[in-house]
Amino acid sequence: MKLSNMLITTLREVPAEAELPSHKLMLRSGMMRKMASGIYNYMPLGLKTLKKVEDIVRDEMNKAGAQEFLASALIPAELWQESGRWGVFGPEMFRLNDRNERQFCLGPTHEEVFTDIARAVIKSYKQLPLNLYQIQTKYRDERRPRFGVMRSKEFTMKDAYSFDKDYEGLDVTYNKMYKAYTNIFERCGVDCSAVEADSGAMGGSGSAEFMVKSEYGEDEVVFCDCCNYAANMEKAPSTPQKAEEEEIKGLEKVETPDAKTIEELIKFFNITPEKFAKTLIYKADDKVVAVMVRGDREVNETKVTNAVGGAVEFELADEKTVKEATSAEIGFAGPIGIKVDFLLVDEEVANMYNFIVGANETGYHYTNVNYGRDFEGTVGDFRNVTSEDKCPKCGESLTIARGIEVGHIFKLGTKYSESMNAVFSDEDGKKKPLIMGCYGIGINRTMASIIEQHHDENGIVWPLSVAPYHVIVIPAVSKNEEQMKAAEDIYNSLKELGVEVLLDDRKERAGVKFKDADLIGIPMRVTVGRMISEGKVEFKLRSSDEVEEMELSCVIDRVKEEFEKNSIKL
Ligand code: ATP
Ligand code: MG
Repeated sequence: MKLSNMLITTLREVPAEAELPSHKLMLRSGMMRKMASGIYNYMPLGLKTLKKVEDIVRDEMNKAGAQEFLASALIPAELWQESGRWGVFGPEMFRLNDRNERQFCLGPTHEEVFTDIARAVIKSYKQLPLNLYQIQTKYRDERRPRFGVMRSKEFTMKDAYSFDKDYEGLDVTYNKMYKAYTNIFERCGVDCSAVEADSGAMGGSGSAEFMVKSEYGEDEVVFCDCCNYAANMEKAPSTPQKAEEEEIKGLEKVETPDAKTIEELIKFFNITPEKFAKTLIYKADDKVVAVMVRGDREVNETKVTNAVGGAVEFELADEKTVKEATSAEIGFAGPIGIKVDFLLVDEEVANMYNFIVGANETGYHYTNVNYGRDFEGTVGDFRNVTSEDKCPKCGESLTIARGIEVGHIFKLGTKYSESMNAVFSDEDGKKKPLIMGCYGIGINRTMASIIEQHHDENGIVWPLSVAPYHVIVIPAVSKNEEQMKAAEDIYNSLKELGVEVLLDDRKERAGVKFKDADLIGIPMRVTVGRMISEGKVEFKLRSSDEVEEMELSCVIDRVKEEFEKNSIKL
């Protein structure tokens, strides 16, 4: 492609609303343009890389034995009503009616659609296992679309759905997908970790998220400092600390008129937060749930939601609910005499001695409280892990970092096949529900993550595997005929080899051309300048500062060498 013919839309200014490097660079390099909040249009340059990421995904999915499908984005409500998710999905789902008032949605995900396909086409165990995937547009009315295509309202997802006759089969399929995902991210140049993820109240048997470490990440990930253990904060089990043993003292009610928050109570009692147990009250759909954790801990809402059997809506209770449960103003909740559907007690609290809790009476707290003697509840792990906790696998220390989820693999089991009656005849002639798995990758988010990990102050530094073009040939002075002629020759030879190459034949200063080449991140640059009169050109990798001077006749081999180094076939 000659740049003089190409629509170049690079920007000099950094768009004000963009915070994330990838977001800034995708706009600045003219890969995409914003149309509305969370909605972007891809320009030719951006589309080329997007398609390359898709191709890598497609190649690895095919190699893993999955078959490509393409389902409609427009999905009738009935399918979602059958699975029970029409009411559950909430405002994230774009819903619409046709002219006959029939309800539809723009698919945020496609479990229902693929289960529907499977129940229609799969009759016998002989057709199993089957893994179907698509690379398709998804719609989600995100509460906070941000970071460009990292979280947008319309995005491309590769979603796969597997069908097996038993759980052993599902394990095999799941492991194949795990391997395929590892290959995909490696080929895209994305350094990410597979972390254990929550699989919901129904306790699906396994789930892993592929996480890219980033300070902008919306997930918290717990990494072991020693072994390969990593888990999403939602899932990571805590190691309860045992409080120092004390002689059990008598319960006392103490007037604490102005002390409601932990900070105020610390001051009031002149004591550390480990001596308090806070009681938080949540609404899980129509159930009221009280959760107790040590004063300095955070409640893990996922663990709590799972403990109460799952909930569509889970949030801190409103003032009215708190008052009904505690018969007190907010700030005085405690376990003794509380009126709730569930009282969940973090294991650590159950192991504490003579601690302080709210008295369920405005202006009062109890001291010298002890679990078992003064109250009882469901004891379990209900708090977030901290860096003081230990690795559940090897017992070593943990680090907590933020991460961006680029992919997710999930053992669904029979969640959809049971609700939607997707069955097959097994060898014994009996009808059994299909055992399912689902596997998603955000294509756009992966592309943005590549930029997060491959950029510098001058722009993007594309890995060769996903670069929109492999080589840019720059005649330093376009109107110099000798330079232009040599540049065109290199350009044509590379094109013939199947290299994707740009020729910057614009009548711009060399400095401007270099800046643009750096910004859009083309991995190899060949400059034809004054030295062409001695038969020499310059070769430079975007990822290195070194300029290699070489004979004109060597440059094609030099380009080929990079393809070999990166194990990319021409
Ligand atoms: P998140 O927690 O970030 O919202 P999710 O759990 O909703 O992600 P999945 O439903 O598992 O995501 O979707 C599979 C993949 O699709 C994700 O791993 C992510 O890469 C991508 N994805 C999800 N939502 C968006 C979005 N709004 N914009 C871009 N990509 C997305
Ligand atoms: Mg989401």
